[in-house]
Amino acid sequence: MTNSWRVPYVNFPAQWEEEGDLVRECIEAVFSRGDFVGGEAVALFETEAASYCGVDQVVALNSGTDALIMSMRGLGIGPGDEVITPPNSFVASTAAIAHLGATPVFADILPDQNIDPEAVANEITQNTRAIMPVHLTGRVADMDPIMDLARKHDLFVIEDAAQAIGSRYNGKKAGTFGDAGCFSAHPLKNLNAGGDAGFVTTNNTDLADNLRRMRNHGLQGRDTVLEWGWVSRMDTLQAAILGMRLARLDNVNARRRHNADLYHELLDPMHVFLPLERSIEHNTWHTFVIQVERRDALKAWLADNGVETAIHYPLPLHLQPAALELGYREGDMPETERQASRILTLPANQFLKDGDIEYVANCVNRFFAA
Ligand SMILES: *Cc1c(COP(=O)(O)O)cnc(C)c1O
Repeated sequence: MTNSWRVPYVNFPAQWEEEGDLVRECIEAVFSRGDFVGGEAVALFETEAASYCGVDQVVALNSGTDALIMSMRGLGIGPGDEVITPPNSFVASTAAIAHLGATPVFADILPDQNIDPEAVANEITQNTRAIMPVHLTGRVADMDPIMDLARKHDLFVIEDAAQAIGSRYNGKKAGTFGDAGCFSAHPLKNLNAGGDAGFVTTNNTDLADNLRRMRNHGLQGRDTVLEWGWVSRMDTLQAAILGMRLARLDNVNARRRHNADLYHELLDPMHVFLPLERSIEHNTWHTFVIQVERRDALKAWLADNGVETAIHYPLPLHLQPAALELGYREGDMPETERQASRILTLPANQFLKDGDIEYVANCVNRFFAA
């Protein structure tokens, strides 16, 4: 079989072809002004992103990881506190909790891959300070019951919305439910910078002021240090590029939604557990994750046929070597562990053509027909 069809998981050359001129303009504007750190594009991006998400404040930071760490620090979370979070996430959500000296407490997930509110309820103790849902794949976690729990037990909610910019739940955007929404603009995310970048959404002005100080050495004005801070600022260059791309984000997300719709139409639900969208959801499909039997064989078959896939994530966080001291064992998070051997992320980037999606779906269906 000789087949030269290639379906890339990501396609940065295509993005450059589509908007290289706009990126060049951003670079020229920043270099000609020379305001590389804390420049005018940063405040502009913050205003535009706040309006896009529907919050009072956006604080631009250097990464999604620092968005998580800084916002929890700003809310006073630290040693002795427990933060409940799902074990099937990118490492940064749990690592952020651990870095503050707080204890990550895992709650298992639902078949839709997001944290199970009932499992959260079971993990609440005297020491619980916060819940950190992760809007995995760009699908907002079940926020109504999560916010009910938070109100009832007086807990903070920090949303890891790194994968979910523009996604909605009951018409409300990701990152606007809790005390802070943490976003990543890593090159692989739907809204992507040319390097590391991230930001926090919040309606809490005190928290936003605190974050603006802490990202910049703890400085108030030029020369007064209120508390020892960090360097967690978003580069002006990245802010300029993100401002340009934010205006185009709904188009990107619509193209990804179109690809997801096609997959739903074409993939055989007899063999493939599809990530369905409930009527209250509007998902932006940072990743399109199917769940299947014989996942590894399917992944190899797709690779043989030129289709790049990924696994988000093969080893759950509670079973990582770094998590040893937390005392979890295999069997503690049955749904997460069950999914870890079944999940497969299909390419769904905005540059794919209908023919690419048809080709991928066809390869998957042929694998199960054989
Ligand atoms: C990408 C990602 C992060 C980290 O963002 P960075 O900008 O890479 O630091 C955190 N959580 C989740 C769920 C992510 O997907």
